[in-house]
Amino acid sequence: MIIEVDGGQIETRKGDIAAQQDMEAVVNAANAELLPGGGVAGALHSGAGPALADACAPFAPIAPGEAVLTEAFDLPNNYVIHCLGPVYGQDKPEAELLASCYEKALQIADDHSISNVAFPSLSTGAFGYPLEEAVGTAVPEVLETLSNCPNVNQVCFVLFSEKDLKVYEDYLTRIAG
Ligand code: ADP
Repeated sequence: MIIEVDGGQIETRKGDIAAQQDMEAVVNAANAELLPGGGVAGALHSGAGPALADACAPFAPIAPGEAVLTEAFDLPNNYVIHCLGPVYGQDKPEAELLASCYEKALQIADDHSISNVAFPSLSTGAFGYPLEEAVGTAVPEVLETLSNCPNVNQVCFVLFSEKDLKVYEDYLTRIAG
């Protein structure tokens, strides 16, 4: 679904974050060392090729809530924005750290005149953040930050499962209505 919001558009789609042809930047659910791993990081590093890990190395380690930008190499995008989400129950305060990822990623995009950005559902896989709770932080933060990022026109949430997509779409429908 696509909704019009202050400062641009929010889109949701089901898919693989490593196969987003029409997005200028994709966001990585990174680990602190910015290394390939499972989930989103595994998919993006395997799509980008080994040059991505080399490009990440000078920035590592990053702290929860931080975001850094690299090229995207063999991915169909220009940039990857690497965010370290909080590990649920461990990195606190979780909601502030998760919000910080979305805010910093969008600010970096805006600083580099990136017009559209695709996010996976940060922290809700291996890092254990309950999805409904994460959506309630992620979406409001994106809405607020997008209104202050004149260069970013579109944010796309790319969800891996139909179930996750529905949680995002139900939330957006509630707040858009
Ligand atoms: P984290 O470590 O931040 O929890 P994960 O990569 O483990 O990150 O998972 C984050 C979310 O992304 C989970 O909902 C997971 O199902 C989903 N996911 C995993 N692989 C992909 C992919 N290739 N594209 C989009 N989403 C994915």
